[in-house]
Amino acid sequence: MEDIQYIKTAAGNCVLHCGEHRYLRNASYKDKVYWKCSKWRKQCRARIITNATDNGQARYAISGVHNHT
Ligand SMILES: [Zn+2]
Repeated sequence: MEDIQYIKTAAGNCVLHCGEHRYLRNASYKDKVYWKCSKWRKQCRARIITNATDNGQARYAISGVHNHT
């Protein structure tokens, strides 16, 4: 799995970097955060769900495939 990286933008939003792709925070529920691809407006269906663990490491699951490079 590739490393994921949380980045705060100048506007104060949180984005997630994973490999070549950027994800925007979509929703959170309990200890899970749902991210959607930054190209979601272009019908990209790729999503990531991160799951914070007690030791501060994030586990994550990717669903969907990017429709772009
Ligand atoms: Zn995408």
